[in-house]
Amino acid sequence: MVQCTTPVHRPCRCVRPRQNTGGTVESRYYFHPFTATGSAINVDDLPLDNSFAELPPAFYTRLMPTPLPAPYFVAASARAAALVGLDPALLARDDFVATFAGNHVLARAKPLAAVYSGHQFGVWAGQLGDGRAILLGQLAGPHGPMELQLKGAGKTPYSRMGDGRAVLRSSIREFLCSEAMAALGIPTTRALTMTGSDQGVLRETVESASVVTRMAPSFVRFGSFEHWSSRDKPDELRILADYVIATFYPELAGAPNPYRALLEEVTRRTAHMIAHWQAVGFMHGVMNTDNMSILGLTLDYGPFGFMDAFDSDHICNHTDQQGRYSYANQPQVGHWNCYALAQALLPLIGSVEEAQDALEVYQPAFAGKIDELLRAKLGLATAQDDDAQLFDAMFTLMDASHADFTLFFRRLGALRLDAPEHDAPLRDMFVAREDFDAWALRYRARLRLENSVDAERKLAMDRVNPKYVLRNHLAQVAIEKAQARDFSEVARLLAVLEHPFDEQPHNEHYAALPPDWASHLAVSCSS
Ligand code: AMP
Ligand code: MG
Repeated sequence: MVQCTTPVHRPCRCVRPRQNTGGTVESRYYFHPFTATGSAINVDDLPLDNSFAELPPAFYTRLMPTPLPAPYFVAASARAAALVGLDPALLARDDFVATFAGNHVLARAKPLAAVYSGHQFGVWAGQLGDGRAILLGQLAGPHGPMELQLKGAGKTPYSRMGDGRAVLRSSIREFLCSEAMAALGIPTTRALTMTGSDQGVLRETVESASVVTRMAPSFVRFGSFEHWSSRDKPDELRILADYVIATFYPELAGAPNPYRALLEEVTRRTAHMIAHWQAVGFMHGVMNTDNMSILGLTLDYGPFGFMDAFDSDHICNHTDQQGRYSYANQPQVGHWNCYALAQALLPLIGSVEEAQDALEVYQPAFAGKIDELLRAKLGLATAQDDDAQLFDAMFTLMDASHADFTLFFRRLGALRLDAPEHDAPLRDMFVAREDFDAWALRYRARLRLENSVDAERKLAMDRVNPKYVLRNHLAQVAIEKAQARDFSEVARLLAVLEHPFDEQPHNEHYAALPPDWASHLAVSCSS
């Protein structure tokens, strides 16, 4: 057995500077631009491939999406469209809407639903699979091929008790957050477009149906490996691992033990992704192993949340009564999930020691990345031994006063080294003003140590401390308008979130504290 013995590492227990072991994979593809721009373009000309469909049939079920009555266009992301060489204007056209609602099946599509299993809330859940997501295939792009997946396109053999649908409310949240995270520089799946239909879908109430077209190089999950391992199917396990390595991690193929190398790299990427989450106050909400991407991407946006008032134990998912996926627990859960992956890969890796060694990268990778991100957030150009204590004290202070996460860091950028009399916008965020003063004294001393210059520091800090994040109430306003068939707010909010670090004078209200009514918003697994 591979056992997780890691102590909880909370974001405010920040550790010594460590070497950043990160490593991004350069794209090995070159882009054949499809440049689908003209009105003469036929949607069936989209040069779709499907490498996943070349795996043996045990890995998926080939099936058609279920059409929706009278689908309409809701939104499109121009940035995501650029990743597959598509003119976003095309996405509103009837034939594209029909395609991305699942009503028209592209000539070159090989639609399929993939099988996987997983641990949900720490408990083995057995077989799951794409219960409402249908993979069409992949399109080439400047950074490599992107798979297109229709989420909410009807029942599959893995739907269990579900209806195979997604509601407009949750689709808007997934669409906006995918693109917001990408703009924040956080590894994530993307959202190309959203379609809707007035077909009723029963959740707590009857809501309208929607399909989000998601994109990622791959939607393979930790649970895809757990599936074969749990069934004692080493051949399938190897086929899947070889496919993932050959297609997405070719540089690992020559390693002495490529499966161990895969575990190590996925562990590192997972740690880095979660450090990014912590640094912007993002909570995923359902970090089950079936929602963990083998590429280290933020995957499956459901009851996620961005922290408003800081509370390190905040639980964003109403369904998560134990707080397993609270903000402070995310780093540890990420590690736990990597242990589940290690357990699944063990038959291929061949030795518990090798698997344990691969998992050892998690803590230094997380610590190195969070330290790097926090230094940047505080405008620190150098690393000092006692930075961890400074971060620690800052989070303790924020926690005690429930200071707004996003506003605090943004305002910190405007701090003037020699003018504490101008601290009011920051200072007033804290109940115990004198505690803030004490921390600010330390922070100023630390800045002086590296001869920090106010104007330069502010510029640098504004590039890493977002002004605009997808606060729950902002999504809620867009959702309520969309439910009345006005999609303009979805587009407006997307445009704001595409530039999270910029001052947008006309959009100041999108950066404001949540209104009182927002405290009653609850997000759950219902989607
Ligand atoms: P999630 O918690 O959204 O990641 O979903 C967990 C599992 O339930 C996955 O296998 C999903 O495909 C499946 N699932 C969630 N919602 C539905 C639905 N409405 N219809 C069918 N399957 C669903
Ligand atoms: Mg899922």
